[in-house]
Amino acid sequence: MEIKTLAKGSCNCGRVTFSVTVPIDSVFVCHCSICRKATGSGGIAVTVVPTSSLVIETGQDLIQSWEKPNHDWLTNFCKRCGSPVPGKNDEQNSFIPVSLLDAGHESLEVKHHLFVDSKASWEEIGKTGKQHKGAFGV
Ligand SMILES: [Zn+2]
Ligand SMILES: [Zn+2]
Repeated sequence: MEIKTLAKGSCNCGRVTFSVTVPIDSVFVCHCSICRKATGSGGIAVTVVPTSSLVIETGQDLIQSWEKPNHDWLTNFCKRCGSPVPGKNDEQNSFIPVSLLDAGHESLEVKHHLFVDSKASWEEIGKTGKQHKGAFGV
């Protein structure tokens, strides 16, 4: 059976490319202090997919991981251009920074804002999406 690619993405330098074989629609925006430092911005917008549906097509050797000591937090980025790239979310799932998507992002909608209590002082959170004080469900 042919596996259908529903979304494709790449980093800024184009060396890391990936595809996704499940429909994606939910965007989670994390406003926590660690994601803010990792991006130098208000946080990061990601979608979460089963790891089995994410295929790293090229550039696996360029993906560097960094784990925050004493935190259950990990970031993956392209060693060449610094773009955040997909990484492990938990045992079964991976996260994808949604702005890496070149195709298949048309149905994306912000569903949840996480760690809004940690948001940047200058940031105003938009109207879409449920706001959580901390992690998902909190
Ligand atoms: Zn890159
Ligand atoms: Zn975060």
